[in-house]
Amino acid sequence: MSISSGAQPSGVPPVEIGPAPYCHRSDCNICRKQDGLKTGSALLDVPVPGGYIVESEHFLAEHAPLQESSAGTVILEARRHVLDFGEMTPAELAEFGSIAHRLVPAIKAATGVQRVYLLAVMERAPHFHLWLVPKKDEGEGRGADYLAQRPPLTSSYSDAEAMSVKIREQFEQS
Ligand SMILES: [Zn+2]
Repeated sequence: MSISSGAQPSGVPPVEIGPAPYCHRSDCNICRKQDGLKTGSALLDVPVPGGYIVESEHFLAEHAPLQESSAGTVILEARRHVLDFGEMTPAELAEFGSIAHRLVPAIKAATGVQRVYLLAVMERAPHFHLWLVPKKDEGEGRGADYLAQRPPLTSSYSDAEAMSVKIREQFEQS
């Protein structure tokens, strides 16, 4: 049975299961972005500075949206449409651990920070994505105050691109 066939009640967005093995959904902006589709979000429908930093079997990493992050902020996202660790397979969890083990030091080396903050809330898209935020000596506060500051820290395209290249180099050497 195809769940995309038949009439949808008006006002209910269509939900389609994408191709195996990623189970992508047409109503998820992270799935759409990975499939090269427009999302309607000004944050997402732009070229990723420097391209993907990590392209592994189960995960992708890319620079975070420039309007919401300082240069060197990375988003690590599952290729499969899963919400959190509880829905991941043992293979996905193992690969996540191995990537985090290399990516955090790569961001520290590229940006020169002492701490990389981690944040995963999945509020705007119910699809696992982890923010890796270099804690710099700019902006305000520490901890949650640093992450929540308004207006948020931002980056230029060229700074983000240069940082993506640097982080990828560090990651691949590790
Ligand atoms: Zn998704």
